Amino acid sequence: MNPHETPRVAIVGAGFTGSLTAAHLLRNAARPFEVCLIERHPPFGPGTAFKAPLPCHLLNVPAVRMSAYPDGPQHLMKWLTERASGPDPGFEAGSGLEAAFLPRRLYGEYVEHTLAEAAQDSRARLTRVAGEAVSIESDAGGTRPRIQLRDGSTIAAQCAVLALGNFPPVDPIGNGAAVASIRYATDPWDERALEGLEAQDTVLTIGSNLTMVDIALALDHRGHRGPIVAVSRHGLLPQPHRKSLLPSWSSRVEGRTGSPRELLRAIREDVTLASAGGLDWRPVVDSIRPRIVSIWTSWSERERGRFLRHARAYWEIHRHRMAPENARVIGSLLESGRLRVIAGRIAGMSAGKDQIEVRVNRRGSRVLETIRAARVVNCTGPGTDLRRTKDPLVQDLLTRRLARPGPLGLGFDTDRDGALVGADGRPSLSLFTLGPPLQGRDWETTAIPEIRMQTEALAICLARRFVTPEAHGGSI
Ligand SMILES: Cc1cc2nc3c(=O)[nH]c(=O)nc-3n(C[C@H](O)[C@H](O)[C@H](O)COP(=O)(O)OP(=O)(O)OC[C@H]3O[C@@H](n4cnc5c(N)ncnc54)[C@H](O)[C@@H]3O)c2cc1C
Repeated sequence: MNPHETPRVAIVGAGFTGSLTAAHLLRNAARPFEVCLIERHPPFGPGTAFKAPLPCHLLNVPAVRMSAYPDGPQHLMKWLTERASGPDPGFEAGSGLEAAFLPRRLYGEYVEHTLAEAAQDSRARLTRVAGEAVSIESDAGGTRPRIQLRDGSTIAAQCAVLALGNFPPVDPIGNGAAVASIRYATDPWDERALEGLEAQDTVLTIGSNLTMVDIALALDHRGHRGPIVAVSRHGLLPQPHRKSLLPSWSSRVEGRTGSPRELLRAIREDVTLASAGGLDWRPVVDSIRPRIVSIWTSWSERERGRFLRHARAYWEIHRHRMAPENARVIGSLLESGRLRVIAGRIAGMSAGKDQIEVRVNRRGSRVLETIRAARVVNCTGPGTDLRRTKDPLVQDLLTRRLARPGPLGLGFDTDRDGALVGADGRPSLSLFTLGPPLQGRDWETTAIPEIRMQTEALAICLARRFVTPEAHGGSI
């Protein structure tokens, strides 16, 4: 690098992951450089997860565990306390705030604030660029990436971080005519997913997890009174959180990294022990979480595949729980019969003018049942297989052989620093990723508690490599 040139770190994606990577770089900057944050759907901060417009769309983690910085809950609590005295706090202030499940859009504002605060007194400069990165080229040595945006402009940098977040769900039955119909919503997070529905219409969701919960809550909120049918392979619903914070559990699973079957047995034993002591199963599940990355990496590819096939659905409904307030609404929808959950497989769909016919093969039965709905919403959760996403940047990286799919086809293949591994098996010198695209490497990489650690670690790594190679101790 020319010593007179101002270094530039480009970050593609300004959800929580990209924004916090930027915030760490800015907070710790010991010399001038530029952080260029590129986002195709501003604002800069909330990302897909925390843009949810409705107040009923709550975080699925209590506030005490949602601070942007890893060193304790104070940063978020301080922001909430300051906001509580304002005209429109957006939450119920008072005691018990630590156990509260905040509205997601409020959390999005907090991420925006965190980014702005980090930029305020920094020696580095934050540039926000509204645009979609569609292609990345680098020089022959694999350094100095040039990011091309959809409008044709180019941004050159010393390195690029791909904080691309969760990819849209993949359509479970391919790309037939029904999928192209306006009665089919391929992206449940698109604000048009429920547009044009009448109050009595039938809505069918493919999937019965937290995304389905979001859709059912949104329908209820807008006065929809028709049937909601959720179809998923196992017909399982996410478990609810408890209203109050629970005592923590010291897991005996520590250091035990046997097969997936052995892990599940150990968890069951811990749950039995906990309940003998009058404790809930939830702290047991939570106690495993910090160990997931080491357990996952200790498993062979075959064992990981076995976990995904046989245990994933059960693990996820216990691990990704819904806020108690949301669980109450879902409970009353189930009780009144407005929400019905079916365990089965979608065998086919055909779209007519007024409705979609969905053929469902119930679990354990050979008979096909036809359900007619005014709208089908794909709630299968974020797409994870890069080869199946239509994202132009991801397709470009695969075509240029700058990236390849991660283990089991999940996310990107990377080294321990998050450097993309190219088709030739070598880690990139200048392209990095973190957050949800690391699922193949770490599995537990999609929620704030893990991502905030990754953003801090990557910022330190980038600063050492690209901004002040001579710096030590994490200052940039
Ligand atoms: C609906 C939902 C609710 C969630 N709720 C919680 C929760 O309560 N608690 C929790 O811990 N976790 C939650 N999560 C998990 C979530 O993955 C993380 O918390 C975190 O928000 C992920 O942030 P991200 O920035 O990696 O991804 P995203 O939020 O997906 O942001 C990625 C951003 O990158 C942008 N982008 C992508 N490609 C390009 C491109 N080529 N050019 C320019 N911009 C681009 C996108 O527009 C987007 O804004 C939730 C996830 C979802 C989907």
